[in-house]
Amino acid sequence: MIDTIQLGTPDRTALLDITDLVAGKVREREVADGLCIVYVPHTTAGVMINEGADPAVMQDVANTLEKLVPWKAGYHHGEGNSAAHIKSILVGGSVQVLVEGGRLLLGTWERIFLCEFDGPRTRKIHVKILRD
Ligand code: ZN
Repeated sequence: MIDTIQLGTPDRTALLDITDLVAGKVREREVADGLCIVYVPHTTAGVMINEGADPAVMQDVANTLEKLVPWKAGYHHGEGNSAAHIKSILVGGSVQVLVEGGRLLLGTWERIFLCEFDGPRTRKIHVKILRD
């Protein structure tokens, strides 16, 4: 079984903490130990694990990605959102988190973020939990 979370994103770029949503799916499945796979099936969004304690970190990540991959830079793609495609590739479309004792085995400061690069849109997040 695969759980799918739908989430609206507020801006063109938004890094949204989805840890509690994913942890909720782990609880619903009542899996004590295993592996949780989070997959974002979009070409202009992604998912990553990084620090969630200080919101300034995600602000810095978003700002740095914007500098590395500006919205306009002579791209060829007719849809006009190549920057979002490239950022999606850089960030990646899936993460895996170990599950132990019914909880996501994340580090102290780690959170899972949905990375929107061409919003606002409604995004899907697939969650698959494999039992040990
Ligand atoms: Zn496109």
